[in-house]
Amino acid sequence: MDAKAKQTLDLRARDDRFFRAAESVLKTYKITRRKKQEAGTVIFDITGGTQDYVVGVHPEWLHNPQCSCPDAAKRAKDSTRGYCKHIIAVLLSNDEFRCQLLEVFL
Ligand SMILES: [Zn+2]
Repeated sequence: MDAKAKQTLDLRARDDRFFRAAESVLKTYKITRRKKQEAGTVIFDITGGTQDYVVGVHPEWLHNPQCSCPDAAKRAKDSTRGYCKHIIAVLLSNDEFRCQLLEVFL
């Protein structure tokens, strides 16, 4: 298998892992959108797991979504541009922000 084909496979495996993780978040956690924005950012509370997290999404995508979980700052930063499973779940469940998922695959 040439290097390019291998890279494509690796990326596909990554994307699969990624959406499975997001799906588990959607099933396990409760995602609540706050009525009030903070500094122009829409805030979502992720609750129902062992720990609560906060995801912020900019409506005009002036900056990428942020999450307070440790994974967003560490592992997800290398593999998926800082998009942890919580961010993915928030974007997947909100039509108006879904386009911001593109960043993960670029
Ligand atoms: Zn997160």
